[in-house]
Parts: sequence; C-alpha cells; structure tokens
Amino acid sequence: MGVLDDERVRGQFLHAWQESQAGTAAAHEEGGFVLRDADGLLTVERWPSGMQNQIVVPPHPGGIRSGRLIVATFHTHPNLGVEFQQEPSLTDIRAVRDDPDLDHPDYEGEYVITLEWIYRIRKNGQVERIVQTKAALKIT
Ligand SMILES: [Zn+2]
Repeated sequence: MGVLDDERVRGQFLHAWQESQAGTAAAHEEGGFVLRDADGLLTVERWPSGMQNQIVVPPHPGGIRSGRLIVATFHTHPNLGVEFQQEPSLTDIRAVRDDPDLDHPDYEGEYVITLEWIYRIRKNGQVERIVQTKAALKIT
C-alpha cells in the first residue's frame, strides 16, 4: 500500500505531469506534498512551479504542512532530451535522505514522475522504479 494506490493522488500526479509540459520549450518541474489528515484522507498540496530542472520545496517543519502529516513528496522530470537524466539525480536523493523533517516512519519517500517510469526515492536514499507512468496515470 502506498499513496499511488489512491485514485485521487494518481489524478493529482497526472495533473502535475501535464502542467509540467514535458518535452516542450516550456518544460519545468512541478511537485508537491501528499498529506494525510487525522481521518486518513490523502490530499495533495502543490509546490510553486519550479524551473526547467529544479524545484524548491516549501518549509515543512516536523514533517507537517498545513496541519497535516507529509506521507510522500513528488516532483516531475519533464525534460526529455538525451542531455537530461530521467531517473532521480544525486541532488534529488540527497534532498530526501538529508531532510530531517521527513525522517518519520510514515513517510514513503519522494516519487519522481518521468515519461516512462515513476521512481521512488526512499528515506535511506535507495531508488526504486515503481510503475510505468502511462499505466499508473492512465495516459493514453
Ligand atoms: Zn529531480
């Protein structure tokens, strides 16, 4: 079980992917927090739009944002040229691994949405290829 099992979260991931305009001159990273409220409901709070290949994560002291627990984070990699790495970068991995505010047991990791695959960076820095993007997000 993970946040990708939640249909609303998948819809939000799709929305972020589409807004990041992959493969165009306007391609830029999008991302957000996946938050869980006291009733277990998952919601997504988007980050401000990023640059072509970087994005800034808003403050989230104690793993909390807007009074809700951060159970996952995500961002897109919309640059498709061969000069761009599709999989999570070392910078991405360090940002997750070295963030003390995400060091709680309910944090699943950071999902990185790319054209082919959705990856997950776990808190320990390990990267997993989770699922094919088109299948998970129902892109036809
Ligand atoms: Zn990245």
